[in-house]
Amino acid sequence: MSGAAWRDRIVASDADGLSRAAGLLRAGSVVAFPTETVYGLGADAFSEKAVGEIYRLKNRPTWNPLIVHVADVAAARSLAADWPDGAEELAARFWPGPLTLVVRRAPHLPGIGASNDTVAVRVPAHPVALELLKVAGLPLAAPSANRSEGISPTTAEHVVRSLPDVPMVLDGGPCSWGIESTVLDLTGDVPRLLRPGALGLRVLRDTVGPITLPGAAAEDGEARSSPGLSRRHYAPRARVVLCPDVRDVDRSGLTEPVAVLAYEGTDGTEILSADPGEYAADLYAALHRLDDAGYPTILVQEPPRTEDWLAVRDRLSRAAA
Ligand code: AMP
Ligand code: MG
Repeated sequence: MSGAAWRDRIVASDADGLSRAAGLLRAGSVVAFPTETVYGLGADAFSEKAVGEIYRLKNRPTWNPLIVHVADVAAARSLAADWPDGAEELAARFWPGPLTLVVRRAPHLPGIGASNDTVAVRVPAHPVALELLKVAGLPLAAPSANRSEGISPTTAEHVVRSLPDVPMVLDGGPCSWGIESTVLDLTGDVPRLLRPGALGLRVLRDTVGPITLPGAAAEDGEARSSPGLSRRHYAPRARVVLCPDVRDVDRSGLTEPVAVLAYEGTDGTEILSADPGEYAADLYAALHRLDDAGYPTILVQEPPRTEDWLAVRDRLSRAAA
């Protein structure tokens, strides 16, 4: 496909663009749109055919379920068979925002992906996403708008380059958080972290108290986790190697150029902020740039082992797996 053809799929998110996107969604097609976390590939959550198109375009395994995006708390509640107090409190404090809640699925909503009895829902904070949800009048199932296992897109151009067959991408500029939402499972007695993400655990604990972390045994004695978290994920084409200190790495035997992804205070090809939130916002764009530059190997300076870096460390270790 020529460069011009894929660029034509990027559409300004003005009233005309939004109404065309809503028309495609109502007709059972898919549209990529900006959220405050990463760009999503959306489809009518009630249409099994449209949702199937997401899996086909992304080459996503069917056992990996999708997050359903809705315009407000009432819409989220209507997709749930049960809306626990914790969901009400978390939604009141953090929605619209980068927090996804897993609750029991209402029977009238088809199973999204894996045929379990739960649904993951969130109200996104990006004005274009909210406007699209309103104009389309549909709940939108939407995973990140990239080929399965690749780096998530934080610009419209990342989307068309990863998914050249996407019918349309609404352009909302670069995503402000730049990392996926935090996913909390509220179907048990204690909220359980399924995926660390944009929203940190400290603020969540302030609202709901203790949170079970992945890896800890569930009450029924069986370790449950988010079905979508395959070990290798969020990965660039380049080989990613996490290093406790990139300066200690012996590069004498390496003939190929090596990129170094570091943070302030260390040397590197790409230097990101030493603040975990700012680092997360720039991480995927930096990985995209290093991939575009053709580096076969990216050495990554390992961030501190503190809870503030949990989501970034999770994505880096999956990129390196
Ligand atoms: P993505 O859409 O690629 O950002 O990934 C969505 C994440 O939400 C994956 O880790 C999924 O496994 C998780 N997820 C979506 N729906 C559910 C669900 N019903 N139960 C548990 N995890 C879910
Ligand atoms: Mg994804």
